[in-house]
Amino acid sequence: SSLTTDVVVIGAGAAGLFCAAQAGKRGRKVMLLDHAKRIGGKILMSGGGRCNFTNMYAEPGNYLSANPHFCKSALSRYTQWDFISLVSEYGIAYHEKTLGQLFCDNSAKDILNMLLKECDAAGVQLKTSCVISDIQKTTNGFQLQTTLGEIQCESLVVATGGLSMPKLGASPFGYKIAEQFGLKVLPTRAGLVPFTLHEEDKTVLAELSGIALDCVASNEQISFKEALLFTHRGLSGPAVLQISSYWQPGEPVCFNLSPQQDLLETLQQAQQQQADTQLSTVLSRIYPKRFTQTALDYFGLNNKPMKQYQGKQLHDVAAAFEQWSIKPNGTEGYRTAEVTLGGVDTNQLSSKTMMAKEVEGLYFIGEVVDVTGWLGGFNFQWAWSSGWVAGQEV
Ligand code: FAD
Repeated sequence: SSLTTDVVVIGAGAAGLFCAAQAGKRGRKVMLLDHAKRIGGKILMSGGGRCNFTNMYAEPGNYLSANPHFCKSALSRYTQWDFISLVSEYGIAYHEKTLGQLFCDNSAKDILNMLLKECDAAGVQLKTSCVISDIQKTTNGFQLQTTLGEIQCESLVVATGGLSMPKLGASPFGYKIAEQFGLKVLPTRAGLVPFTLHEEDKTVLAELSGIALDCVASNEQISFKEALLFTHRGLSGPAVLQISSYWQPGEPVCFNLSPQQDLLETLQQAQQQQADTQLSTVLSRIYPKRFTQTALDYFGLNNKPMKQYQGKQLHDVAAAFEQWSIKPNGTEGYRTAEVTLGGVDTNQLSSKTMMAKEVEGLYFIGEVVDVTGWLGGFNFQWAWSSGWVAGQEV
C-alpha cells in the first residue's frame, strides 16, 4: 500500500526544484515534497521581487564554508553561464544591476514559473502540504512516513534550506535528517543580516535612519566596498549584510566612509583655500547635511573654521570618518537574515555528487549544506549548481 518512486526530493525551494527537474529529465521518477502550502515564497521575495538569480562573476571565493574547496566542483560543472542560457531559452528578460548581479526585468515569478515548467516537463510529481514524520533506511533505499502515506524511494535528496525567515517555511528538518544518519552538522548562525547596536550608539545613530553612504566595510578577514544604510534599528545595506557573514559576536567592524577620496587631502586643501569655512560645510560637500552634524557629535569632533585646526587635528577628523570602528550589539537574527551559515559538514559529502559518503543514496543540496554565498546572486547559483550535480546522480 506504499507509494514507490525512484527519487524523493524534500524541499521545493530553489535547489529542490532544480534538482528534481534534472533527475526527471534523466528519466528518473521523481517526487518533490514540501510541507509548505505554497512553494517558492523565498524566490518570489528575493531581490526585492526581481530575484537576483545569479552573478556573472560567481567563483568559489564568493562562498563561506569550513572547507572552501568543496564548492569548486559543482560550481564549475554547472556555472552561472549555464543558468543564464536557461533563463535566455525561456525568453526571460534580465539586466545587470551592479557588480555582476543579474535580476529579472519583470518579476521573480518568471524564475519560479521557469522552474515549475522544467519540473512539469520532466514529469516531476510536486506535492505541497506534505509533512514527513519519519525516514528509515531500507536495503536499497529509503522509506518515508508522510501525510500522503508511506513512500519508498531509491535516492533521497534533502533540500530543506536554512533557518532564515521561518515565516517562509524554514525548518531545521534537514539538519535533523543529517544527524539521524550520523552526519556532522556545523553550528548554524544568521548571515547576510543587519546589525543591531549598543544603546549608546543606537540613540545617536538612529537619527540617521534612512541615510545611505558609500563605504568600505572591513574586518581582519575581508573587506566589501558597497553601501551602508542607517536604520532605526541599527546598520544595514549591502556592505553590512556582506560583512555580517564574517562577523563574530564581540568583534568590531571597521567602516571607511570616504572610499573614493583621501579625506585628509580634501581637508588640507580646504584649510588652505577656504580658511574661514566651517568643517561641517566642507564635509557637507561629501555627505548629506543631516549626516555631517550628527557624525561630528558622535565622533566627538568640534566644528570650527578650517583655519583653527592643527595638522594633527585634521588627521583625527579624517581618521574618524575613514577608520570608524564600531562593535555591533548583535544581528537581527534569522527573522531577517537572507541566509544561514554553517550546516551539513561538507567533509561528509562527495563534492562531485553531493551524496553522503557513508550513506548510499542520501544527498544534501542548497543552503542546508555548509556552503554560504555572498550577497549578489551567489546563493541561488549554489542552489542551481549543487542541485544540478545531484540531479545527474540520483
Ligand atoms: P529554500 O529556497 O529555503 O527552500 C527550502 C524549501 O524546503 C522550502 O520550500 C521549505 O518550505 C521546504 N522545507 C523546509 N523544511 C521542510 C520540512 N520539514 N518538510 C518539507 N519541506 C520543508 N539569494 C540569491 O542568490 N539572490 C537573491 O536575490 C536572494 N534574495 C533573498 C531574499 C530573501 C528575503 C531571502 C530570505 C533569501 C534570499 N536569497 C537570495 C537566498 C536564497 O533565497 C537561498 O539561499 C536559497 O533559496 C536556498 O535554496 P534552498 O533550495 O536550499 O532553500
